[in-house]
Amino acid sequence: MTETADIVVVGGGSIGASVALHLAERKAGKIILLERRELASGASGKGIGIIRTHYTHPVLAELAQQSLRTFHEFKERFGGHESGFNPCGYFVLVPESETETLERIVTMHQRMGINVSLVDPKAVQALVPQLAVDDVAAVAHEPDSGYGSPPQTTLALARRAAELGVELCTQTPVLEIKLDLEGRVQGVSTPAGDIVTRTVVDCVGPWAKKFTEHLGLEFPVKPVVEHVVVVERPTAFAQHHPVISDLVNLAYSRSDPDQPYTRIGNSNPKYHQQFALEDADEFQGQIFPEICENLYKKLGQRCPSFQQAPIVETYSGIWGVTPDYQPILDHLDHVPGLYCAVGFSGHGYKLSPVVGDLMSRFILGERDGQVAQLRLFRFGRFKENDLIKAPLSYAQAGGLR
Ligand SMILES: Cc1cc2nc3c(=O)[nH]c(=O)nc-3n(C[C@H](O)[C@H](O)[C@H](O)COP(=O)(O)OP(=O)(O)OC[C@H]3O[C@@H](n4cnc5c(N)ncnc54)[C@H](O)[C@@H]3O)c2cc1C
Repeated sequence: MTETADIVVVGGGSIGASVALHLAERKAGKIILLERRELASGASGKGIGIIRTHYTHPVLAELAQQSLRTFHEFKERFGGHESGFNPCGYFVLVPESETETLERIVTMHQRMGINVSLVDPKAVQALVPQLAVDDVAAVAHEPDSGYGSPPQTTLALARRAAELGVELCTQTPVLEIKLDLEGRVQGVSTPAGDIVTRTVVDCVGPWAKKFTEHLGLEFPVKPVVEHVVVVERPTAFAQHHPVISDLVNLAYSRSDPDQPYTRIGNSNPKYHQQFALEDADEFQGQIFPEICENLYKKLGQRCPSFQQAPIVETYSGIWGVTPDYQPILDHLDHVPGLYCAVGFSGHGYKLSPVVGDLMSRFILGERDGQVAQLRLFRFGRFKENDLIKAPLSYAQAGGLR
């Protein structure tokens, strides 16, 4: 069977769903989204879902700010579908050595109109009395930020896309991108048959390297296993707490919406080398116990009442990490008709609304205004040795910020 489409989006994570939806909103013609397993079966099924604007690079802060606005109005904006967003607030805790950097970032964000302020560590403790803050020198607070549910958001975006006419095909892997004699995209092949199209959008997340190898493209996207430990809060600490980005211990945590559980993940880039895989298909949900023990210990240091708390679950997901920890959002000039939005390096969920918006405009030919910012994320920056570098950076958290 051979079908035709104006645009084929490959990958049913939050990025692919958002790109397809925004293309449909812009009436880009017949759009087919192909997912090899189920929607949100990759990184988007396991993400911890933190939504914040605290970025050291102004362009990323601006994109996150725009996404945050969309999360606040998600239901009205996307046909009544819910993202699971909980604006419970977000705190960044830093040690003495990072105080100046934090202050400068907060000043930059305030100039950009982001709702953020510096607060005294003792004031944070007044809000969350279980926190130990003796080693915390400064804190930034984003009251409008929080966390969402990446799988719920992905399904919401995909359902809205389907309502607007996008054809969603799960259990449909793309085996090959087919080119014509001039090297331009002419279709994709799947086990169910070929689809003829002039435009393919690669949103395959951690699978980016393998996906386009047959075209001679080298995507510098390393699959990395990322762990999450879920702990039950003691009765004395039953209340929901804000998101804590702990840059003293290099860990982040957030509450669950329905259970008295706290989830903790790692912000220490040194583990990424250790947990990198050659191929995303090697990922089978493996757990490295030493990092889980380490995360549990960090949680106990930050909140001593967690020191005996039962672990409910430990699990892992997979990230696609680039050398500068920033995504690749581009058109592949060597392969006319091929676009990509991959390599989100562990922070793509919060950006998914704005990336869908910008990529759809880019694919439809817009190049000016905010779309011009996509140049920062171009594929060629790695070969040009022009990696994305923020004017300010935290010494230990590296590119993760
Ligand atoms: C543990 C963990 C914690 C995280 N925490 C945060 C956080 O706090 N905040 C944040 O913003 N982000 C976070 N992230 C990252 C975030 O979840 C992702 O960046 C985001 O969901 C976007 O993912 P994606 O759509 O790019 O990739 P994915 O969700 O992986 O989607 C790619 C899809 O492509 C499909 N695919 C692959 N190859 C093919 C093929 N050949 N044909 C068809 N389909 C194919 C895969 O099956 C997959 O479903 C976290 C991720 C993990 C794992």
